[in-house]
Amino acid sequence: MNYYSLKGNSPTVDFQTAAITGQAPDGGLYFPETIPQFSVDFRHTFRQMSKVELAVEVMRPYVGESIPDDHLRRICADAIGFEFPLVPVADGIAALELFHGPTLAFKDVGARFMSRCLGYFARQGNTPPVTVLVATSGDTGGAVASGFLGVEGVEVVILYPSGKVSPVQEQQLTTLGQNITALEISGTFDDCQALVKQAFQDKQLTERLFLTSANSINVARWLPQQLYYCLALQQWSAEAAPPVVAVPSGNFGNLCAGLLARASGLPVGHFIAACNANDPVPSYFRSGQYAAQTAVPTISNAMDVGNPSNFVRILELFNNDFSRLQTALSADTVSDNGTRATIGQVWQEHHYLLDPHGAVAYTALRRYLDQHPAEKGFFLATAHPVKFPDVVEEITGQPVPLPEAVRYLQGRKKQAVPLAVDYAALQDFLLQRSR
Ligand SMILES: *Cc1c(COP(=O)(O)O)cnc(C)c1O
Repeated sequence: MNYYSLKGNSPTVDFQTAAITGQAPDGGLYFPETIPQFSVDFRHTFRQMSKVELAVEVMRPYVGESIPDDHLRRICADAIGFEFPLVPVADGIAALELFHGPTLAFKDVGARFMSRCLGYFARQGNTPPVTVLVATSGDTGGAVASGFLGVEGVEVVILYPSGKVSPVQEQQLTTLGQNITALEISGTFDDCQALVKQAFQDKQLTERLFLTSANSINVARWLPQQLYYCLALQQWSAEAAPPVVAVPSGNFGNLCAGLLARASGLPVGHFIAACNANDPVPSYFRSGQYAAQTAVPTISNAMDVGNPSNFVRILELFNNDFSRLQTALSADTVSDNGTRATIGQVWQEHHYLLDPHGAVAYTALRRYLDQHPAEKGFFLATAHPVKFPDVVEEITGQPVPLPEAVRYLQGRKKQAVPLAVDYAALQDFLLQRSR
């Protein structure tokens, strides 16, 4: 498989180059040249496959010659080595729980897949030592830290906004050590992101350090997210009508991966893009005009994105044809008040505890099914409620018990380098390390 730049001014590249560089030289996102089609045989047998077998089948065409099958199998096994249960919650609504990985949010799979790909390329001696530089509002940093821990040939530097991530998130970012360094920035997430962007454009720095990003722009993080939908459909009865799937969306990487799997032939009926007050995509669906927004803070903060980077990939998938897009996807906006009301109601009526991101998707799915009563579906529960204890405990009046997966973090020592919002300081820090 080759990948082309959506800006159209760069050569096509293979999976390895796309994964190592992240973005095309012209600043565009990479997109696969063809959409693989699931065979008739696959469609009949995927429900009986093991998780790893299924993952290898789905990922193989995208990885192509870059990674041989036995290694791809190992990478897949590592990336999805936990549970993805589809749990009934209410009448016609199930939760696809994507928070059973090591950092309790769905980004674990993409981060682990990408880290192991880069580790493989480094071991082959095909690449210089890589520094992954990433800004986080909470979940990405933890997943990247855990996913890349101990991967040889890869250094990770994570910028996070001081005081603006939850206690569990901060522990996940700052206590691992080894090849993971956390920079605690005295500013906002936007400040962190701006610093990272500036570093990528800094010639003096990029001549000395091979920098790459680890967000969903990177195909090695974006593409394996298709596996959630495949693993969910394994658990959806072959006799039932294809499900409606609601995806809590920020940068739209996860949703775009679902649409890609559907384009390959996965039997999903309809998708819903569920957004908080940051809703450039729902606005586009209302008006037919796309306009970027300035992000505003909400209680589902991993979705506070005003100009989602993966939306161009969704448009490409549908040949920029708005009417075709509407047959596969609709979009909805849920306010913080609506999100809080849903968490309380679902807890009282069904004794199921939603996190704010899952609650946005639940709300959008509920509204859609009210309009389409013959259909059924599931929403993606993208994070464990313990990652957002303030919001959840205020509504339910109960502390959220710490799951087994994060107990190991208790009592570990925080190691973070405090840094002002000052590009010269970041540059200095990174150049010191390149010596
Ligand atoms: C990152 C994240 C999202 C948004 O995912 P995108 O792929 O950026 O749309 C939703 N929920 C949680 C909990 C997240 O961490």
